[in-house]
Amino acid sequence: MPEVRRNDHFINGRAWKCASGERISRHSPAHGRLLAEFAAGSSEDVDAAVQAARAAYDAGWYAMPGEQRAKILNAFADLLDANVDRLGAIEAEEVGKPVRFARFEVGMSAQLTRYAAALAWQLSGQSFNNLGEDKLGLVTREPCGVVGLITPWNFPLLTLFQKLPYALAAGCTVVLKPSELTSGTALEVALLATQAGLPGGVFNVVTGTGESVGSAIVSHPNVDMVSFTGSTRVGKAIAREAAGTVKRVALELGGKAANIVFADADFDAAIDGVLFGFMLNQGQECVAGARLLIEASIAPRFMEELKQRTERLKIGLPLDESADMSSLIHEAHLNSVLGHVKSAQREGAEVVTGGDRLGDQFADGFFMSPTIVAGVSPDMRLFREEVFGPVLSVTTFESVEEAVTLANDTDYGLANGIWTRDVSKALGVARRLRSGTVFVNTYLETAPQLPFGGYKQSGQGRENGLEGLLEFTEIKSTILKIGPREAILGHTAADHQAVPGTV
Ligand code: NAD
Repeated sequence: MPEVRRNDHFINGRAWKCASGERISRHSPAHGRLLAEFAAGSSEDVDAAVQAARAAYDAGWYAMPGEQRAKILNAFADLLDANVDRLGAIEAEEVGKPVRFARFEVGMSAQLTRYAAALAWQLSGQSFNNLGEDKLGLVTREPCGVVGLITPWNFPLLTLFQKLPYALAAGCTVVLKPSELTSGTALEVALLATQAGLPGGVFNVVTGTGESVGSAIVSHPNVDMVSFTGSTRVGKAIAREAAGTVKRVALELGGKAANIVFADADFDAAIDGVLFGFMLNQGQECVAGARLLIEASIAPRFMEELKQRTERLKIGLPLDESADMSSLIHEAHLNSVLGHVKSAQREGAEVVTGGDRLGDQFADGFFMSPTIVAGVSPDMRLFREEVFGPVLSVTTFESVEEAVTLANDTDYGLANGIWTRDVSKALGVARRLRSGTVFVNTYLETAPQLPFGGYKQSGQGRENGLEGLLEFTEIKSTILKIGPREAILGHTAADHQAVPGTV
């Protein structure tokens, strides 16, 4: 019988009993078996975690030399790699994603940690030697204090590691609330971080719902900053709540990316990129290429080939090594995704392939077939709303101008893709796309050096790159006087002593 994990919170370097004693059960979305029971935290547990984080900050984590912080982060990355199979399996089962993609996520998390470790050496400021003969200005970066991290269920590790190592490298201490659906790997990596030498209290995990634990973190007066990844709806609520204590807020929110395929694109590469862009993680991805904008002259041939390759994707259970896709996160979400397809059909769009819940060997889970919907116009919900499932909406265009207008016709601005052999056309279009990332002749490729984040309602702030580190810092200006200071009010200390009655 496979293990059922029963986890407490992780506070001050050890397992921490939940104040309420209550638990949240997580069943597999793919086969229904009980996987884990997480502590159902409350504001009392958040208080304990924030106290531990504040104490660890004051005890010296903030002042530890970057070199030593980097050493711990590198040891942490090595432990992530060494535990890739266990972490990958937990991630796959809790999310319902194919295990080979989950293992890739673990590797990417280790890579992000090593990059952040290098930045820990590098954190620096500015000096101004041009303020006049008698002054020197110093601009220093300081860790911004205790940081609350709140993460979603779709990529539990990746969304965490786009924040955690950067916050630690900057010298912050952390209280994390992972998604209540997928808290397993966060608790595992907290233990690994401690084994790597991270002092107790520097990284704490409180599990539970957004309403109880998440909102207690956001409103806590002793949390200096909140970094959130999740839906635009919750992101807006967090920004409002954080205003109560004027906290700094970083938001990584939803998306509605377009893949623009021009007639002169490398046909095979574009098919592959479009397919990968909408099927990965069952389409439950903020940067999913959920909209295909295809130049009308090649649309029939492109759609035929795309349909065939989509129908060849292998659907399987999360631990099936050969699966391309597995289950959606839960039943209500599956129904919402199917509802988007139905609504597009009612509005006149055509389902080219898919659109169904899968039964038979998948009947115990929340599986759906990868779906392509053609004839989608900008006034349809499917064109505008984040569906977060394996559904590609297809719209044709006739000119570069029309393609750019369609791509930008959304409230979101996280990513877009361009497929063309004409480099100057690609660069010209890339400039005009209102999104934080643009992929050209590829999709979903990235590197830790490249900042990631959204325009418009896809968020504020950036993760990864040097910017990802600077997000977790405050800026301090220090002005130094060189030599004696002339009294501004016309008196020197000697003048004062000369005037009877003054001190
Ligand atoms: P969600 O917004 O429902 O939840 C995200 C996290 O916020 C969870 O941990 C949840 O418990 C918590 N939460 C919920 N209500 C809260 C509240 N009132 N106060 C504090 N915390 C609260 O999102 P989800 O369904 O877990 O994830 C899917 C969404 O995440 C999609 O919209 C997707 O686009 C987005 N996402 C964005 C990125 C990015 O980098 N931009 C990456 C991954 C996912």
